[in-house]
Amino acid sequence: MTIAPTTHPAVFLDRDGVLITDSGYPHLEEHLVLIPGAAEAVRRLNALGYLVVIVTNQSGVARGLFSIEQMEAFNTLLVRRLMAKGARIGAVYACPFHSESDDPRWFHPDHPDRKPNPGMILRAVADHDIDPSRSFLIGDRQSDLEAARRAGMPGFLFEGGNLDHFVRDLLGA
Ligand SMILES: [Mg+2]
Repeated sequence: MTIAPTTHPAVFLDRDGVLITDSGYPHLEEHLVLIPGAAEAVRRLNALGYLVVIVTNQSGVARGLFSIEQMEAFNTLLVRRLMAKGARIGAVYACPFHSESDDPRWFHPDHPDRKPNPGMILRAVADHDIDPSRSFLIGDRQSDLEAARRAGMPGFLFEGGNLDHFVRDLLGA
């Protein structure tokens, strides 16, 4: 017999300006400042059965501001900081590429992962059996919302304040 694969609803969150303060290419522990309500918002989404996935452009790597290893360590620190508050991040996707990089490893004229392209979202959907029709994105830039649109899901603009209040109002729950 064939068993249909289980698919999960997911919420895609931008990192800088949504989960943490966007201080301009944050990459060191002292730059890690959670947005008010960030952990509570992720906990709320976890409780409602959403897989929470971070999708973040990190052109600081391509611009030579920090290394890919520093970027990954910072993302791990963020995931642990949230987990310590009971907030579970299911996966992190980061795009280090940029069209103005002098470093051939990170140069790309228009990388499919770099938002507004939907590559990170589409890969997450495939990697984690996500149902796009039950999923959405929260970002603080139009390029985030455009990536969601290209991935076939709604995107909502977070313009600051308390992320948990924003999520609560969005879900009406
Ligand atoms: Mg942002």
